[in-house]
Amino acid sequence: MNTADPTTDYSQGAAFVRGQYLPIGQATLPLTDWGFLRSDATYDVVTAWDGAFFRLDAHLERFAASCARFRLDPGMAMPQVAQVLAECVRRSGLRRAYVEMIVTRGQPPWGSRDPRQAVNQFYAFAVPYVWIANEAQRAQGLHLHVSDVQRIPSASVDARAKNYHWNDLTMGLLGALDAGFDTVVLSDGAGHVVEGPGFNVFCVGADGVIVTPASGVLEGVTRRTVIEMAQALGLPLQQRALPAAELRGAREAFLSSSGGGVLPVTRVDGATIGDGRVGAVTQRLIETYWAWHRDPRYSTPIAY
Ligand code: PLP
Repeated sequence: MNTADPTTDYSQGAAFVRGQYLPIGQATLPLTDWGFLRSDATYDVVTAWDGAFFRLDAHLERFAASCARFRLDPGMAMPQVAQVLAECVRRSGLRRAYVEMIVTRGQPPWGSRDPRQAVNQFYAFAVPYVWIANEAQRAQGLHLHVSDVQRIPSASVDARAKNYHWNDLTMGLLGALDAGFDTVVLSDGAGHVVEGPGFNVFCVGADGVIVTPASGVLEGVTRRTVIEMAQALGLPLQQRALPAAELRGAREAFLSSSGGGVLPVTRVDGATIGDGRVGAVTQRLIETYWAWHRDPRYSTPIAY
């Protein structure tokens, strides 16, 4: 059923703000929402590709877990969240979209600083698909910098709950861009790499084993997809601490993100990875990733 006002232009994207659908350009939140004042929020991002959500169930499952970890209540059950997301995409008309769901702490009554008294708020929006890497970077591979900036430890903010504690990622990214790199991965303070701004990291050693950090990272849905694809393709994979030196000396390296799937890395800190071209394992995972978008086990068609 088309419930949108036909005179409203949602073509740049559609949002759901405190119970109301709005064009993305009109979507705002109150200044005093602790989501803004304190980064006190959780969120998730699912993509729509050719008119269908990819792995919607996995994203909703992680969103519900993030809400529980941060004691945030979306105020609706996950099937209702799915309906709101689909309605945002439908109104936008976008076939390929970046779709975000957010719960903020909201605000306690004036004078109270007790987060238990805050009324949590739910927001969502759909905008055109977002790529972490541009076309040239996807074809040739990214030049990655391993930053000295330490990712906020999970003992402080649980990395498994998707969060907006991004100052470390942003400062690391600014340093990398200023120095001429394409993007950045942060470390854990003990010489291991963890994750970057919007992605997980993997490498393939000379023994052909795929390695990805086991802890201190968001359990990316794309990371999970890579792990499942490796299983399906019979490729060995280990989840364990990944020293920066091992990444620099790897035969292949790649990133995983809902913003583009499996993204090749061909240089790390000026050193060439393998022969400097997108590796065979990486290429196979890229092809499988996009093939799985057409698999009904992972796709949920949207009614436009
Ligand atoms: N790590 C961080 C910090 C992220 O913000 C993201 C995604 O935004 C990821 C990893 C990758 O997660 P996903 O594959 O679910 O997009």
